[in-house]
Amino acid sequence: MAMPLETDLLISGATLVTMDPGRRVIENGALAVTGPNIAWIGSADEARMQVRAARHVDARNRFVIPGMINAHSHLAMTLFRGLVDDMPLEAWLARVWEVETAFATSDNCRVGTQLAVAEMIRGGVTCSADMYWQTMTNIRAATEAGFRLVNGPPMIGVEGPGGGFSPELEGQMRAYIEEHLGDPLLRLAIQVHATYTANDRMIDVAKRLAADYGVLFMTHASESRAEVEAISARYGKTPIEVLHAWGLLGPNTLLAHCVHLRDDEIAILADTGTSVAHCPQSNLKIGNGIARVPAMLKAGVNVALGTDGAATNNDLDMLDELRTAALVHKGANGDPTLLPAEQAFALATTNGAQAVGLGDRLGSLEVGKLADLAILDLEAAHVTPLYSIYSHLCYAVDKHDVRDVFIHGRQVMADRALLTLDEAEIKAEVRRIAREVAAVHG
Ligand SMILES: [Zn+2]
Repeated sequence: MAMPLETDLLISGATLVTMDPGRRVIENGALAVTGPNIAWIGSADEARMQVRAARHVDARNRFVIPGMINAHSHLAMTLFRGLVDDMPLEAWLARVWEVETAFATSDNCRVGTQLAVAEMIRGGVTCSADMYWQTMTNIRAATEAGFRLVNGPPMIGVEGPGGGFSPELEGQMRAYIEEHLGDPLLRLAIQVHATYTANDRMIDVAKRLAADYGVLFMTHASESRAEVEAISARYGKTPIEVLHAWGLLGPNTLLAHCVHLRDDEIAILADTGTSVAHCPQSNLKIGNGIARVPAMLKAGVNVALGTDGAATNNDLDMLDELRTAALVHKGANGDPTLLPAEQAFALATTNGAQAVGLGDRLGSLEVGKLADLAILDLEAAHVTPLYSIYSHLCYAVDKHDVRDVFIHGRQVMADRALLTLDEAEIKAEVRRIAREVAAVHG
């Protein structure tokens, strides 16, 4: 008989929602982890014979999913959660930029990012593609908490806290990228806020850096009708056409929102392999409309799912976002067959991984991939009985069902206790900052 495989951790007895190419769901399954990677997957019975582990997690009556990937966030915006609601995007942006100028300091953004990471881990999210002021601080705050982040040196183009554009910027960005290329929890990205705040110099820098280092390029695109009209007036082209003309569309590009697209623009995204971060709750709340996700998916566009910032959502709950995505297109199109549960769950997992350029490392439970996963309870009344795990994930499961979370093989939540963050202290600190904000802007 072959020697058993020696591993660090064995999670057994659970239903494994692998999201692998065969979309296997393994009942009474087992998953072993060695270092940061998934080392073995099979049935709990096979595991008893084939796997030896230093630590064992009994996951009977639970299910294991790949950690969800938030494809578009502004994490430290948790500081301004609920401050500016019920306004159109342009007025909202003006108000938020005013508050950010005063309060998006490095110290404040560190705590705001920590709060966001705590909230996301609690909701089974293990990775987020983030764009915000004080980027370097936020990267440190998230990765020090053991959380996986997609982010990189900022190039926001509008003057603001820790942002702006200077001739020295490209050199600084290169130095940052070279220093951080090997960071295990950081997928480097170049971020430009949007076509309406970009200029030619910034675009040249973004293109050079993305090409030289193979890093991701992220920006907002076609979020509101007013944006499309303004860009069309300035360039005679839509934001998608402008980005295409600038040579910025491709498999390494992730566009947030894409609410207002014509058929030919969807075809451009499909042809270039560009990914889209669909943020349905933010788009609904700001009254921007409903992105044409079923049409994009049909055309072959890789669509992922994002929460956007806590000032337009107002939470970072990907399970809730998933449910909104699965519901809104059915209602808006009068067609209940659109975005069925399994396809919707792919938006939050495999499509998210592909969107951030980590399709070969994340998004599914497969041997050799990184051990980013969440263990959820199947005991609560609202998930009883169980016929289809995908149905429950889309239409019934709640973030409070998430019990344990592992990122890069390391446990960051155990039986709902956060292991890498002092949540009470973070919440107290955010409440203190909020009192200062409210004194000026409340
Ligand atoms: Zn955004």
